[in-house]
Amino acid sequence: MTKQDEQVPPTKALSTFRVNPSLPEQLEPLTGLAYNLRWAWDAPTRELFQRADPQAWLDSGHNPVAVLARLGHQRMQELASDADFLADLERRRAALQRYLTEERWAQQEDPPPPAVAYFSPEFGLTAGMQVYSGGLGVLAGDHLKAASDLGLDLVGVGLLYRHGYFRQYLDHDGWQHEQYPDLNPHDLPLTRLERGGAPVTVEVELAERTVGCAIWRGEVGRIPLLLLDTDLEENDPSDRPITDKLYGGDREHRLRQEIVLGVAGVRALRRARELGEVPFEPIVYHSNEGHAALLQVERVRELVVEEGLEFDEAVQAARAPVLFTTHTPVPAGIDVFERDLAARYLAPMADACGVDTDRMLALGRHHGDEFNMAVLALRLSSAANGVSRLHGHVARDLFDDLWPELPAAEVPITSVTNGVHGSTWIGPEMTSVYDRHLPADWRSDPDAFAVAAKIDDEVIWQARQRERERLVTSVRERVRHQRERRGEPAYGLGWTEEVLDPDALTIGFARRFAQYKRGTLLLRQPERLRELLLSPERPVQLVFAGKAHPRDDGGKDLIRQLVHFGADPAIRDRFVFLEDYDMDLAAALYHGVDVWLNTPRRPYEACGTSGEKAALNGVLNCSILDGWWDEMADAENGFSIGTRETHPPEEQDALDAEALFDTLEHGVVPTFYERRDGSIPRRWVGMIRHSIASLGPRVLASRMVREYVTELYAPVAARAEGLIAEGYRGARELARWKQRVQEAWPAVRVTDVRTDPGEADLGDRRELRVQVELGPLSPDDIAVELLHGSVDADGTISAPARQSLELVERHDGTADFAGSFAVRDVGEYGYAVRALPDHTGLASRAELGLARFAAPEAAGDEVGPEESGEPVWEAST
Ligand SMILES: *Cc1c(COP(=O)(O)O)cnc(C)c1O
Repeated sequence: MTKQDEQVPPTKALSTFRVNPSLPEQLEPLTGLAYNLRWAWDAPTRELFQRADPQAWLDSGHNPVAVLARLGHQRMQELASDADFLADLERRRAALQRYLTEERWAQQEDPPPPAVAYFSPEFGLTAGMQVYSGGLGVLAGDHLKAASDLGLDLVGVGLLYRHGYFRQYLDHDGWQHEQYPDLNPHDLPLTRLERGGAPVTVEVELAERTVGCAIWRGEVGRIPLLLLDTDLEENDPSDRPITDKLYGGDREHRLRQEIVLGVAGVRALRRARELGEVPFEPIVYHSNEGHAALLQVERVRELVVEEGLEFDEAVQAARAPVLFTTHTPVPAGIDVFERDLAARYLAPMADACGVDTDRMLALGRHHGDEFNMAVLALRLSSAANGVSRLHGHVARDLFDDLWPELPAAEVPITSVTNGVHGSTWIGPEMTSVYDRHLPADWRSDPDAFAVAAKIDDEVIWQARQRERERLVTSVRERVRHQRERRGEPAYGLGWTEEVLDPDALTIGFARRFAQYKRGTLLLRQPERLRELLLSPERPVQLVFAGKAHPRDDGGKDLIRQLVHFGADPAIRDRFVFLEDYDMDLAAALYHGVDVWLNTPRRPYEACGTSGEKAALNGVLNCSILDGWWDEMADAENGFSIGTRETHPPEEQDALDAEALFDTLEHGVVPTFYERRDGSIPRRWVGMIRHSIASLGPRVLASRMVREYVTELYAPVAARAEGLIAEGYRGARELARWKQRVQEAWPAVRVTDVRTDPGEADLGDRRELRVQVELGPLSPDDIAVELLHGSVDADGTISAPARQSLELVERHDGTADFAGSFAVRDVGEYGYAVRALPDHTGLASRAELGLARFAAPEAAGDEVGPEESGEPVWEAST
């Protein structure tokens, strides 16, 4: 700061304009490198900018665009004549060019994957671009990065929050305070779309006014990212701050943001496409969580207004290419809006579609008359998924009543387990281990990690030691800094030089402080915890970080409890709470701790990705069997806490705390400190190796994105194509068919089920013939399914085999279906029969949520589980 800056208070500028750094020609490639976010996961490019101006690099929080803006004339001249620097610059330029143009996975797929528009309320791409709050945003960021690595045609759509997400500060008492940063988009790797010097805008109707939205464009490797921004002079002053903060403000503010994200988002996509800023036409629309679900409403509007479809037809056509990913395990996590509020804002959309507002609101109606964004998203998508196998079950249960006649297990919500972007999250030491010991394409081929099983103990342990040392150094700096900021005098801070022991077992816990994540589980047994921390031979140290939602005082209190516990001078050097958890702090922890602790109340962790990032760094997970860990834990790739049994919350917490201490005392600590020959904990390193080899292939975002492509994007695109062809003939027909079937369904009955009575031997075939009353439907409108398998004590077939029966005879108003099945198991055996709507345009027979089971009196013999009412079973898929 110069003297002048100190003396004159900040002054509002009358007018602003942009001064671009005029780089000497030799340095011009720096611009291209700074404006492609590829640097966020390319360490050599970051080093180049750091070298260009180390001080600006630090001051800007590692932001190449800000470094460029601050490069002085003299430094430019120095760099322009620094042959070494120029050679490196050329190497990085060429590497980026190669990355952007070379053939990748998607170019080798046949048929090529469909192009995708990926909508998300947040994107976590790099710490300094705070348009993310936590897991959801970081996942979206990793999705874009992995899509880039795979060469997919994918475009991200989101919001540019001018004040992003809050930064966290704790006061002396450990109470959280929030401060919202000012994001200067000109200092970010984004450019505003402009034509003729004026911003390109799209407009959206928000209740009484029309609001303009500017479009910022970023490059995430090969992936374009569009971010909308309402802070335009031409907007009404009360509309300018719509895109101010992430998750700030009241319900109405949230709804306005979601209209901008979904509705203006689609319009921005169209505009950017016209201008050649998005080089492909998206086929699939992927909605990351329900916040973006109004994109589907906008697509309905487009089809009504531009293609002349009826509302119901447009709904069928609009939902076909849409995939909805839910991240919510509990009803409280779902976005709902009060009816009148939703009505006020959706009325213009309903008008444009030629329907009354209630008809529009009905798309999001669930319980009562609130407008539920997840329900809207489910009704207006043709595929949906949860984010881990366990969460898939949870989501099917949660939304079960939208498919009223189907068992929860058959609710058409599948799962794709989240993954993380390796190059972003793996620390420098482990990166160099992988560079030396894994196949060269480990960054894009998840299977390369299997080779980690062969890496030497010494190599792994040395990398782990170095990463822990780096963490210790950075924790000491952070602790000192946060104490100074609270106003503690420097002479009292000598102890911060000795915070954490670089050789001690270090456990990390960092996540949002919400009750269900149980950040204070360890505090339930404070004496046992102190013993672990203060053990002279086998000390344990703990590093915590995480924010509580600004309005969650309960969450803030959890943080305060931790800070109070760690205030004791006897343990303050080994029980540390670090402020302001963000992507940088998160990375430092994933790189440097030995154990990643996760203690959610099962099954509320939808997936959890932090443990996946830790695992890739050779950190061992110690976790409740929830989220991703529930499906990937084995006895040797980490430590599992407790069992899968469920108890009432208070009891569960007590049991899990007990199990957690047992695991630490008898598993984690002894294994880490077991040094039979020399200084290397062989058993521990063996677990690391197995953890990397077994988890690496499964936790990478490249695995996740490929799975999205093959399991969801491709089928969704194919179905959409079928409905869109020939002027939306398929969609028109499907809309008519659905209405007809829904009206006729009450008349459908499976009336007569005949099979041979009596006992059977294993492998015997049973013939089966059923009659179905169809009412006004034709036999071609339905499928008849047979479900069979072993029956448990309450008459339930727990894992039925399923097959379709053949239509054998048509009568007037009824039809006969028949087939045979082989008895697969000994003991009590049963079957069930049901009719479901069936049409080639459906995503699955479950789509309408209608299924008519044969009633007990239909059975012509003694066999059959139907006596107990509707059968219940686990998904057999
Ligand atoms: C990965 C990540 C998360 C999500 O981790 P969880 O395991 O879901 O808690 C949250 N915040 C940041 C900064 C992250 O990097």
